[in-house]
Amino acid sequence: MNGPELIRQMNRHRVLEAVRRQGPVSRADLAAATGLTRPTISALVAELLAEGWLEEIGPGGSSGGRRPILLRFNPRAYLAIGVELSAAHVRAVLCDLEGQVLARHKERTRGPDPNEALRQVAGAIAAMKAAAPPRSRLAGAGFGITGLVDREQGIWRYSPHYPGPERPVAAELSQACGLPVTVENDARCLALGEYHFGEAKGSPSLIGVRVGNSIGAGMILDGSLYTGTDSGAGELGHVAVAPEGPRCACGRYGCLEAVAAAAAIARSAVRQIAGGRHSRITELVGGRLDEVLGSTVIAAATEGDPLAQEVLAEAGRYLGMAIGNLINLLNPTDVVIGGGTSRAGEFLLGPLREAALARALPYQARRVRIRLATHGEYGVALGAAALVIAPLLAPPAPT
Ligand SMILES: [Zn+2]
Repeated sequence: MNGPELIRQMNRHRVLEAVRRQGPVSRADLAAATGLTRPTISALVAELLAEGWLEEIGPGGSSGGRRPILLRFNPRAYLAIGVELSAAHVRAVLCDLEGQVLARHKERTRGPDPNEALRQVAGAIAAMKAAAPPRSRLAGAGFGITGLVDREQGIWRYSPHYPGPERPVAAELSQACGLPVTVENDARCLALGEYHFGEAKGSPSLIGVRVGNSIGAGMILDGSLYTGTDSGAGELGHVAVAPEGPRCACGRYGCLEAVAAAAAIARSAVRQIAGGRHSRITELVGGRLDEVLGSTVIAAATEGDPLAQEVLAEAGRYLGMAIGNLINLLNPTDVVIGGGTSRAGEFLLGPLREAALARALPYQARRVRIRLATHGEYGVALGAAALVIAPLLAPPAPT
């Protein structure tokens, strides 16, 4: 982009931002807010109206004379799709530019075959496309997955749940669905979803912790997503919290994931039931203890089962220990807990918060807010949609 065109694009962005921030405004209000001349405002507004970014609404109040026409941002100028592939589920959303969810979709995955899993993901994207109102414009789809992801290249390098060589999933899905696709690590999607659309919107230092069959952290530090040297940052699941503890899937001992992920929660419950503890869990699986999942433990806890509640509290304390360490290291404002296991709610969050605040130093603990993800188990999917939406609304970059 050359000089004059870059300036024009920057002015256009300023106008759009002013309307988004200030709600219904007149062209005169925009001139005052941006310092741009009235003819420049008129030309940019005409362009943004023609492209559907802005809408004219009825006249506003005025101190005298003709009442001006007001302009507002059209959050449905584009829609976006976000999809999450976890070990157990495909979850998808269709949302507008403000993260308002228009449709959602959830299905169980059919196993560890990555080809089959990606077919399910493509099917979920197709379902969301079909749910879009007539004449909507789809900006694309974001895809959040566990493991090592290279967003720039669109490559899924490694997955703990879907074994296989690295593959260009963004291009594969884009071809299957006929939409641009952006791929990113699931915990980073969770953090981005909260940052753009959640209760922690705009928080400059925010950590999203995704707890499910694996555990990861997405970190927004000083307003930017931190990804590390080789896009490998955020492996909170492999932080040591119990060095004498069980062996983790990664081969090391005492990782957070080995004591607090969904599978570890299920194992801990089964071990205690096998040791003679009575629990509602046994009835929920009809006595087939090898079928106990993290979600079974959550269901039993919700029904008041003491063992299930103890097991979730123990996982919460381990998570809290790791998060307390993160609070000391990074001094975040917001820590948001999402992923499938966050459906345990206060059974997990209460002990987690207590342990985190006990581990954190008083100064760093003072202002931190630790809470459940605003969009619950759809937090990753919505954050994946933010991968597509955020660039549409970002200021133009010089090339
Ligand atoms: Zn590990």
